[in-house]
Amino acid sequence: SRPIVAIVGRPNVGKSTLVNRIAQTSDAIVHQSRGVTRDRSYHVADWNGREFMLVDTGGIEPMKSDDVFATSIRDQALAAAEEAAVILFVVDGSVGVTEEDESVARMVRKLKKPTFLLVNKLDNPARENDSLWEFYSLGVGDPVAVSALHGHGTGDLLDEVVSLL
Ligand code: GDP
Ligand code: MG
Repeated sequence: SRPIVAIVGRPNVGKSTLVNRIAQTSDAIVHQSRGVTRDRSYHVADWNGREFMLVDTGGIEPMKSDDVFATSIRDQALAAAEEAAVILFVVDGSVGVTEEDESVARMVRKLKKPTFLLVNKLDNPARENDSLWEFYSLGVGDPVAVSALHGHGTGDLLDEVVSLL
């Protein structure tokens, strides 16, 4: 059976775009509006002959007891992370650290699994790497610059991910 790599992060950071790039499909639903992927979706991926399952999730919203939809999204992300061998935690480098990112970080840190902190939407890493540093505050290790849209950073990332599977 294929090991599981879970993609977590708040809505709209580019998780589904990253899934499409890594799995080289377009079946993860990318949308401008928040929280479109309600459930976990599984995508077969292969890097240098190593197969794994990428699990896309709808994102993790902060706890709001009156918001059943947000709670179910968060539960899906937690369930995906719990079954994963490796976690890819995606944040938005064009926005910076948000409270929702901090909420995701707390969940991820508790799981104590190998985790990559991916600072996405750094479409021009040479110019934008300055925005990496503030993400150290999330306490989940070294932030890695990627652009899901253009593919920058994803090859080196996958080399490291599959070395842990
Ligand atoms: P998700 O909610 O985390 O799954 O985010 P999506 O993959 O649906 O992407 C949300 C929006 O961010 C879409 O408009 C994407 O085209 C855009 N996006 C995703 N990755 C990048 C990136 O690397 N650079 C830029 N500029 N936009 C991106
Ligand atoms: Mg999505």
